[in-house]
Amino acid sequence: MIIFKEEHIKDLFAYCRNGLPNESCGLLAGTITDGVKTVTQIYYLKNIDESPEHFSMDVKEQFQAISQIRKSNLELIGNFHSHPSTPSRPSKEDIRLAFDPKLSYVIISLQDKDNPVINSFNIKEKTADIDQLVVE
Ligand SMILES: [Zn+2]
Repeated sequence: MIIFKEEHIKDLFAYCRNGLPNESCGLLAGTITDGVKTVTQIYYLKNIDESPEHFSMDVKEQFQAISQIRKSNLELIGNFHSHPSTPSRPSKEDIRLAFDPKLSYVIISLQDKDNPVINSFNIKEKTADIDQLVVE
């Protein structure tokens, strides 16, 4: 299970809308207690691919975010990216590139821009399973 604050969801949707027509991406940090992840901090990173179909996080920004996460005594919980015109589920490429089974892979679909859809997935052994996402 992964828990978001409502304001985080609003910020995420706004950030991904602003990034259109391209995919947006970033990192999620927070705490993990008994397997329940609570997001407390979102790092909005540049998609250096500037593409509507894939993303690569800026390595320098990623490094800075990880260092801040450590300094704040938080954990890296997962990452997010948007799908400007496809559903909120991992593409074949997303599954192929998923490297850490402990991370949550959060995907925001803007297929319907006025009603974005957000889902979280655990990806291991090339299989993506939807995880419960709770908004508080
Ligand atoms: Zn994707």
